[in-house]
Amino acid sequence: MSGLDEKLVDIYDEVLHRNAGEAEFHQAVREVLESLGPVVAKHPEYTDSAVIRRLCEPERQIIFRVPWVDDSGAVQINRGFRVEFNSALGPYKGGLRFHPSVYLGIVKFLGFEQIFKNSLTGLPIGGAKGGSDFDPKGRSDAEVMRFCQAFMTELYRHIGEYTDVPAGDIGVGGREIGYLFGQYKRITNRYESGVLTGKGLTWGGAQVRREATGYGTVFFAHEMLRSRGRSFDGQRVVVSGSGNVATYAIEKVQQLGGVVVACSDSSGYIVDEKGIDLEVLKEVKEVRRARLTEYADLRESAVFSDGASVWDVPCDVALPCATQNELDGAEARTLVGNGCELVAEGANMPCTPLATAVFAESGVMFAPGKAANAGGVATSALEMQQNASRDSWTFAHTEERLEEIMRSIHDRCLETAEEYGKPGDYVAGANIAGFIQVADAMLALGV
Ligand code: GLU
Repeated sequence: MSGLDEKLVDIYDEVLHRNAGEAEFHQAVREVLESLGPVVAKHPEYTDSAVIRRLCEPERQIIFRVPWVDDSGAVQINRGFRVEFNSALGPYKGGLRFHPSVYLGIVKFLGFEQIFKNSLTGLPIGGAKGGSDFDPKGRSDAEVMRFCQAFMTELYRHIGEYTDVPAGDIGVGGREIGYLFGQYKRITNRYESGVLTGKGLTWGGAQVRREATGYGTVFFAHEMLRSRGRSFDGQRVVVSGSGNVATYAIEKVQQLGGVVVACSDSSGYIVDEKGIDLEVLKEVKEVRRARLTEYADLRESAVFSDGASVWDVPCDVALPCATQNELDGAEARTLVGNGCELVAEGANMPCTPLATAVFAESGVMFAPGKAANAGGVATSALEMQQNASRDSWTFAHTEERLEEIMRSIHDRCLETAEEYGKPGDYVAGANIAGFIQVADAMLALGV
């Protein structure tokens, strides 16, 4: 990890003291503050006005009880969260995560990242995140529905199309958004399409939203390659995860001529030297909601492994699309040793600080999630636009808009990095460009 500018040390200390035990949140804040040295040197107004200190404290943090009845008739209690982090640029916007690891520190890290990511899209959305420690694994469809209804029974009073607009994240996809939207509509008696994004196509959803995070990550990586006069054609690619982000990242890499040879889930990973068969993958993951072992059962060229790490598989391009801190320093060294030249984060903060340091030292092109995976939330903002105008765009038009947005984020990262003396550094570019836009809005709106 690099050092912090002396003007930022006290701010980081304050974050540590106010948010004890929230390691992921500390990590996310530190990563941004480490980029802001050249900014505070050039613009004393940001430290003088306490804008960075204000940015590190969420505007509102909501924690609530979620009681629901399981299939055996027993009452289960989970904890629900919504952290409305910053609304300088627009209504709070960000996904909901249902996973047993969810606690306040995870929600805050994700909400904090979301501020800068949403700012980078250039669209009018603030930053938020929410979720629950509910574990959907092994739960019946009826249990998931009852849980979503119970969750929304509290959340509905805090959200709205001009206030806060949740969407999906890990454990929350089209099915869950449907149950959540149904309950919001039932309670409020309003068909308020713009209150949630990631909706189904027949009830207010947008084309490409499902594909957007994965497609966007690959569009971003493609721009990085193009900036060096290269393309995806013939590239050997490893993707971690096999959920929504990973699946559509694989699809876009294949469309652009690359070969994805491996992907993973929480049980292990598969290597398929013939290239991942997407139809089989979608059948196993989206239809059966099963483990990757079933992919290996269905496809002769695939080998399943439950040991070691997917990052042991040699590749030219690595796309971590699973979860935070999934790729550590040792794995980064293995990737570099095997000749990997580009890493773009499809998940939020999947590379540890040590891993990103290894990539930086080794000259590997590296794109942080807040830039590379912004296509998901950007397309959510396009869904909000369509809902507001009661319109619905074609797949081709929406995908074109997504590609343009990713190109513009890419170029803005590079231009900003250059301007602040860090040429080619996408981390600095993303943090600084995302920050300046929010900070200027906060200054304009007053304390
Ligand atoms: N959860 C996604 C993210 O990490 C999407 C959020 C949204 O569409 O609001 O950006």
